[in-house]
Amino acid sequence: MKKETQCIHEGYYPQNGQSRVVPITMSTAFRYDTTEQVGDLFDLKDNGYFYTRLGNPTIAVPEAKIAALEGGVGAMMTSSGQAASMLSVLNLCSAGENIVASTAIYGGTYNLFDVTLRRLGVDTTFVDFRDFDAVDKAIDDKTKALFCETLANPALIVTDIEKIAKIAHSHGIPLIIDSTFATPVLCRPFEYGADIIVHSSTKYLDGHDTSVGGFIVDSGNFDYSNGKFPAFTKPDESYHGLVYMRDCGKAAYITKARVQLMRDMGSQASPFNAWLTNLGMETLCVRMERHCQNALKVAQYLKSRKEVKSISYPMLEGDAEYDKAVKYLGGMGSGVISFELASREKCIKFMDSLKLVSLLVHVADLRTCALHPASSTHRQLSDAALISAGISPSLIRLSVGLENADDIIEDIDNALRVSK
Ligand SMILES: *Cc1c(COP(=O)(O)O)cnc(C)c1O
Repeated sequence: MKKETQCIHEGYYPQNGQSRVVPITMSTAFRYDTTEQVGDLFDLKDNGYFYTRLGNPTIAVPEAKIAALEGGVGAMMTSSGQAASMLSVLNLCSAGENIVASTAIYGGTYNLFDVTLRRLGVDTTFVDFRDFDAVDKAIDDKTKALFCETLANPALIVTDIEKIAKIAHSHGIPLIIDSTFATPVLCRPFEYGADIIVHSSTKYLDGHDTSVGGFIVDSGNFDYSNGKFPAFTKPDESYHGLVYMRDCGKAAYITKARVQLMRDMGSQASPFNAWLTNLGMETLCVRMERHCQNALKVAQYLKSRKEVKSISYPMLEGDAEYDKAVKYLGGMGSGVISFELASREKCIKFMDSLKLVSLLVHVADLRTCALHPASSTHRQLSDAALISAGISPSLIRLSVGLENADDIIEDIDNALRVSK
């Protein structure tokens, strides 16, 4: 099936007399006739559900859908994108080990790696992933993965996935890539050598600003029996001596994430949130096309305005990321634009003058929304600290929605005139 068809049908094929739409199985536990059946489920001899922390028929639908869309062997839904990033790393690393991550990643992920995982003994070395030598040199014998984003939030840098995957594999470690901004509609990172994909489904996959969620997707391609990952080749005593590489085949990574980490740490999605996420995913292809068309129109308009000091959008001609966006994003730039006005004060006036465009700490909603980091998410930082963090005090991040592009442009045009 092609991706448009997968979005609608993958993961749920109702049988005779069953509901056309995915049912919401709002149940914690599942009933069985015999202890033997329950035992077989625990031993992974039989497929079935016993407790929603480890699996649920409603959650299984978007899991199967994202796995198919990305071309992976399996996926696990989590309560948030943050939980997906955390579990994706903890599935490979123990205290005393490390990952190498791009400096251009989502702020929440940066904090998770720089503060919270360090407190647990898992270190992160941050480097600029455009500098391939620096990435290569940052890897040591305790490094267990590389981590970056397909299209970085908010820097809008496109990763050269083929080159980064080659570096990872030359050191015998997998590449984890956060593909939230690209979605499988723009890019399928496994085709370029990535091994594990994480998503914040809170963004385009849901798309309607209703539910926080995340996914981890396993390509099934990485060989964890190369000596660097004993947790995959030695018996897991906490799971009746299961040996993930021997017993789970290509699904070793995602099975371990579920039966070991999700079992112990929780952070599963609610069936209702999974249902809403699945509903959003049904229209993902059509929405992404329109998000990209609208964003390009808005970006071209902004570029033509003299009040706009600089602008980043991957599919604008002349943008530093243009060639990589053509190669990796299929010539679609996603829905997010960042631009600078002349000063912090002008930004605040601009933001306060928007009527249709809403002020939100969010991106990828079907409603156009704008954020001025210096007065909101990063307001604790001085102008000097902002600049050293790579965020200009006069930067605005605009997430272009699905309204008519002319209406979006008219609202921005009005706010630009008022803030002059
Ligand atoms: C929002 C976001 C996250 C975190 O996801 P939540 O669902 O908010 O926990 C991770 N990565 C990227 C790129 C994001 O935009």
